[in-house]
Amino acid sequence: MKRKHEQSAALFARALKVPPGGVHSPVRAFRQVGGTPVFIDSADGAYLFDVDGNRYLDFCLSWGPLIFGHNDPDIADAAKSAISRGTSFGAAEAGSLELAELITREIPWVEQLRFVNSGTEGVMSAIRVARAATGRDKILKFAGCYHGHMDGLLVQAGSGLAGQAIPDSAGVPAGTAADTLVAPLDHLAAVENIFAAHGSKIAAVIIEPAPANHGLLPQREGYLAELATLARKHGALLIFDEVITGFRLAFGGAAEYFGVVPDLVTYGKIIGGGFPVGAYGGRTELMAQVAPSGDVYQAGTLSGNPVAMATGLAALKKLLRLSPYAVLEARTRELATQLQALAARHSNMHVTCQTVASLFWICLDDAGARAGNNVGDNARRICSPAQIPGAHAQLYPPLFHALLDKGFYLPPSPWEVGFVSTAHDKLCIDAFTTAFGAALESIARE
Ligand SMILES: *Cc1c(COP(=O)(O)O)cnc(C)c1O
Repeated sequence: MKRKHEQSAALFARALKVPPGGVHSPVRAFRQVGGTPVFIDSADGAYLFDVDGNRYLDFCLSWGPLIFGHNDPDIADAAKSAISRGTSFGAAEAGSLELAELITREIPWVEQLRFVNSGTEGVMSAIRVARAATGRDKILKFAGCYHGHMDGLLVQAGSGLAGQAIPDSAGVPAGTAADTLVAPLDHLAAVENIFAAHGSKIAAVIIEPAPANHGLLPQREGYLAELATLARKHGALLIFDEVITGFRLAFGGAAEYFGVVPDLVTYGKIIGGGFPVGAYGGRTELMAQVAPSGDVYQAGTLSGNPVAMATGLAALKKLLRLSPYAVLEARTRELATQLQALAARHSNMHVTCQTVASLFWICLDDAGARAGNNVGDNARRICSPAQIPGAHAQLYPPLFHALLDKGFYLPPSPWEVGFVSTAHDKLCIDAFTTAFGAALESIARE
């Protein structure tokens, strides 16, 4: 029986008249899976509740910030208590100091940091610092990596843009993008060639250390360390965009998880505990260039907002207290293993589920197109956008909708990754994989 979506449909009809496409961030509009987006009324733990009274087990989790699930009581209490003392001061206060001290104490390569209001702002500012520090203009990025919507990096930039006819955004001046060099992932020789040609002009290499915005594309072991060596040989800085991976792969993010230290790092998502916060940081000698101590200008009216600092602090303290990383990773692997065991039995389609810590990505292909399963660190990984099967984009939407109808909310895009939170217990994982098997069958019948 189909779920009812009358209220959502009515709201979306109204919404189409106001924000462009009916939403305030593109992927929410369901264009990459078709159909009408469900409007969410409330959320708790592992679940979303829509305006028609439907419940969904949520694996999208607001795109990554909610490592403890929705409406975590410790984080919600921190927000309420902060609000009782005011919502914004625009002046020096101790909350942001406490959060900054906690991060710099726990993450040695972040000696200084600055809070901003989004991941995009963090990246923009880190790039400015890198350019100032090196006196160079060019930035090297990787095809399929997304770093927010700043002009210069909207070049071959991941899911929100994938599948569209134009890879770059309209409205980005050619001159801005001209300082951006793009290399393929999983191909160090290509990076070497770019350095050979432009090495003396490259301020920084920026990478998502576990690329997670065009599918989940884990790089081979040793890749990041070799990239770091190469960048440093040419006097370029290495920037890890840890907006997704920071505080998720480990407290110290992908840098800790993979054991490779960047020069500059950007954070977002988890760092605000579900409120809008971003940050950029690194060695003191680099960060001391930022105003007012140095001449790299960067500012923000609501930066270090006291409510967002309190929720960020509650989230990070809870992460340190519980250290849920091993459990989250084991649970995510269990999900991947179960999915593929099921898929092998139903066999109307080939299913790959790649994971990195508590990130997972389901990639589909026609049955028989590939042999073998790709669980966890299996050898046949998909490591770059070019390796993603062409059939995936067509096969994902019916699976997404079959699962939505059964009460499971996956990311509404074939290229976005799923997240597992501490609120997702073993029962949640089992319920999902059972529904996944049934969804595969129902698609096969249609
Ligand atoms: C989400 C994301 C960003 C942008 O962060 P916003 O808060 O959406 O501006 C940047 N980089 C990566 C890797 C991201 O996943």
